[in-house]
Amino acid sequence: MTQPTVSVGDGPEMPLLGFGTWQLPGRKAYEPVRVALETGYRHLDTATMYRNESEVGRALHDSGVPRGEVFVTTKLPAERAGRERETIEASLKALGVDQLDLWLVHWPPNGSARPQTWREFVAAREDGLTRAIGVSNYSIAQIDELTKATGVTPAVNQIPYSPALHDARLLAEHRERGVVVEGYSPFRRSDLRDPVFAEVAAAHGVAVTQVILRWHIQREIVVIPKSATPERVRDNFDVFGFALTDEEMARIDAVR
Ligand code: NAP
Repeated sequence: MTQPTVSVGDGPEMPLLGFGTWQLPGRKAYEPVRVALETGYRHLDTATMYRNESEVGRALHDSGVPRGEVFVTTKLPAERAGRERETIEASLKALGVDQLDLWLVHWPPNGSARPQTWREFVAAREDGLTRAIGVSNYSIAQIDELTKATGVTPAVNQIPYSPALHDARLLAEHRERGVVVEGYSPFRRSDLRDPVFAEVAAAHGVAVTQVILRWHIQREIVVIPKSATPERVRDNFDVFGFALTDEEMARIDAVR
C-alpha cells in the first residue's frame, strides 16, 4: 500500500504516519515495533533518551522489512550537546543501521538554539551518517537563528500537536521556511471525550483516535502515535479508508 509521505529537505520521503516509542523502554519496545512493522508502519520514531534504540533496531532487523523501506528517526539529548558525533555513532550502532533517515536535536540545549550543535548536525549529514537533520521543541525564532548562523534550515521541527493545539499561523510560519511540522502526543494532548470528535467518529463508523490521526494526515502534519497495545497499534494505522470533509476538518480545527 502506498502511504502519504512528505519530502524532508531535498532528501527522503517521510510517511505522514509513524510509530512513536517513548515510554517503551528497553525490551518493552520490541513487540510493539514488530507489530507496527507487520501492520504496515514504515516510520519509527525513537531517541537516545528513550533507551530503546537497540530493541527498536532488533525489531526492525527481525521484521524482515528491508531497511530502505523504513524511515528511522532518533534524537540527540540536549545534555549531549558538545558530544554530537559520539552520540550519533552510538545511535547507529544501537539501531544496527549505517545511516539514519532523520536526526533531531531533542530540545534546545539549555533552552537556546545552539548553532554549534547545528554545525555538527550539518557535518553528520554531509558525512552520510543521516539523510536529513532537524530539531524538536524549537521556536520559530530559534530555527531562524540556526539558519542565519549556518545557512542550513532544519528540515523538520517535532513539536507537540493536536486539534487542541492547532495554530494555523505557526504551521504557516514553518511552511514558509520549508520546515516540515511533525506533531507529537496526538492523544495525550487531546480531550478524547470532546463531543465533536464523537460526532465525526460516529459519522464515519471509526474511533475518536482514528479521527484525530486522520485530521493530522489531511493537514499534512506528520503524526507518530505510540501504543503498547497490539490492537491499538493496528487501529491507529487503519486511517486510510475514510476521509474527513472540509466541514469536519474545520470543526476539528476549532476543538480546544
Ligand atoms: P500519544 O501517542 O499521544 O499517546 C500515547 C497514549 O495513548 C498511550 O497511553 C497509549 O496507551 C494511548 N493510546 C494509543 N492508541 C490509542 C487508541 N487507539 N485508543 C486509546 N488510547 C490509545 O503520546 P506520546 O507517546 O507522548 O507521543 C507520541 C510519540 O511522540 C512518542 O512515543 C514519541 O515518539 C514522540 N514524542 C516526542 C517528544 C519530543 O520531545 N520530541 C515528546 C513526547 C513524545 P497504550 O500504550 O497503553 O496502548
